[in-house]
Amino acid sequence: MSNATTYNFSDFTTQNYSKLLTLAKTNFEFKTFNTFKNEPKFIIWRHDVDFSMHRALKMAQLEAEQGIQATYFILMHSEFYNLFEKEISHLLKQIIDLGHDIGLHFDSHYYNITNESELESKLLFEKSIIENVFNVSVTSFCFHINNTFTLQCNKTHYAGLLNAFSNFFQKEVAYCSDSNGYWRFKRLEEMLSDKSITQLQVLTHPELWQDEVMSPKQRVDRCADMRAEKTKQWYNQTLISNGRKNIDWE
Ligand SMILES: [Zn+2]
Repeated sequence: MSNATTYNFSDFTTQNYSKLLTLAKTNFEFKTFNTFKNEPKFIIWRHDVDFSMHRALKMAQLEAEQGIQATYFILMHSEFYNLFEKEISHLLKQIIDLGHDIGLHFDSHYYNITNESELESKLLFEKSIIENVFNVSVTSFCFHINNTFTLQCNKTHYAGLLNAFSNFFQKEVAYCSDSNGYWRFKRLEEMLSDKSITQLQVLTHPELWQDEVMSPKQRVDRCADMRAEKTKQWYNQTLISNGRKNIDWE
């Protein structure tokens, strides 16, 4: 069997994404982390924005078209985007304006955190930056790439923020993730159709969903390549705008 078949490449398109949203809406009631209350039946839909705010906005628009709100966990230390550059900030503001919830995607590796008090102090620090810059309330967080310390952080709240990796969400709620561009356990479609599942957390990474059918590597390459291209275009445009010579540019 080809990789495309084994790993369901065709699941990860925007067209299929909209279909999955419709299916989820039919079978569950949507909750976000900021208003979360434990109820007998719900779906909580989360995005960890690791690589692409552009793709995040695309998903936010598809959800808004269907009247769905999701939680976007925003990373301050991405290798692929700078949250505070003008274009990326503007994209995030559009996601907020569509009515979505914003959480903190927290990178403990950046600070080499090894205890809970350090964790809480840095969570508050990053929460305050995002709240001040984007004029939004941040009430939840999740970890970006776990390590031996974060794997032990299973309390419901840290620094007053709801923890998406708490014992409750890990043990009581079914979970479906698209991490690294394939279904690690079951396909999302299968879980959304399973009548025995009444409480479900869905994690998607926006960059792993594209308009065309692509392999996981092609999806990540596209984000990296477009980022590089835009950065070069910005520099070239700056030369033109300031009347400088484009010596070795095309
Ligand atoms: Zn992440």
